[in-house]
Amino acid sequence: MITGFPMAGKCQINRSVKVLPIKRFLKSFGEEFTQYIGIAVDEPIRLDRVVRSANQISLLQKYGYTEQMAFDLCRKCDLLSPVYDFAKRGGCWFCPNARDCELRHLRNNHRDLWNKLLELENTPNLIGNKWNTLTQTSIHDKEEQFMWEDRQMTIFDFIEIKKKLT
Ligand code: SF4
Repeated sequence: MITGFPMAGKCQINRSVKVLPIKRFLKSFGEEFTQYIGIAVDEPIRLDRVVRSANQISLLQKYGYTEQMAFDLCRKCDLLSPVYDFAKRGGCWFCPNARDCELRHLRNNHRDLWNKLLELENTPNLIGNKWNTLTQTSIHDKEEQFMWEDRQMTIFDFIEIKKKLT
């Protein structure tokens, strides 16, 4: 049942579709195991949790890698997700934490998903009836913003037109 959009800053999707299934799988595994996780040395609060869990190991911690060092190594080995070509983070296509650059990419390259997002916001009787209930931003607001931005003339367009007219 659709209840609304994920709540910005309090999204539970990661927990319900990633963390819980992994935990369920590990519980049913029935053998000794080691879980390798990607937490960097400059993430002390998250690392503290790893230290407390007996069978989790962070290789980034073991080899003294910060987030930036891991990023640089991935870039060097051509392992970066293409999402980093236009954004600093990746996420679900409907994520309420998405920045304008991510939303723009979705609108320009995956119009079907963008339209689906607009359509979802029109669903009646949702608990969270706006894409981002925290900032009270609707995806329809973003559609209008991008539509006007697309129509904005640049100084180069203006110079070109002026050249043609003179
Ligand atoms: S990317 Fe956004 S919508 Fe997806 S799990 Fe993370 S916070 Fe939730």
